[in-house]
Amino acid sequence: MPEIFERLNGKKSKDIKVLANFIAIFCRESHRAEAKSVFPVKDARLRHNLGNKDLVLCPACQKLLNHGIAKLLLCPYDPKPMCKKCETHCYAPGYREKIRKVMKFSGLYLVKHGRLDLMIHYWR
Ligand SMILES: [Zn+2]
Repeated sequence: MPEIFERLNGKKSKDIKVLANFIAIFCRESHRAEAKSVFPVKDARLRHNLGNKDLVLCPACQKLLNHGIAKLLLCPYDPKPMCKKCETHCYAPGYREKIRKVMKFSGLYLVKHGRLDLMIHYWR
């Protein structure tokens, strides 16, 4: 799906970065026993967007991140609203609950570890 990456803009780039980072924290902390591999990022812009670093995730989190990235890129709104305030529920059933859990877990994780700065930086 190379053409959907044409939709990558500033706001979406930031949101994808947040999504990837939050899923990475969640996977690292909650899926310690899972077998993990590097999340494949074929698109050069997306790779650059993610800071050119490898994301090591379990298969379930890779699926979730893939789904999230696709949904973000396909978001019909411009500018994209915050997902939790959005009326369109674009995530497939099951994924929405999962992503909520991830956001809550990783948000709390950052707060607990004194990385409020990081959260504010992400959400601004
Ligand atoms: Zn995981």
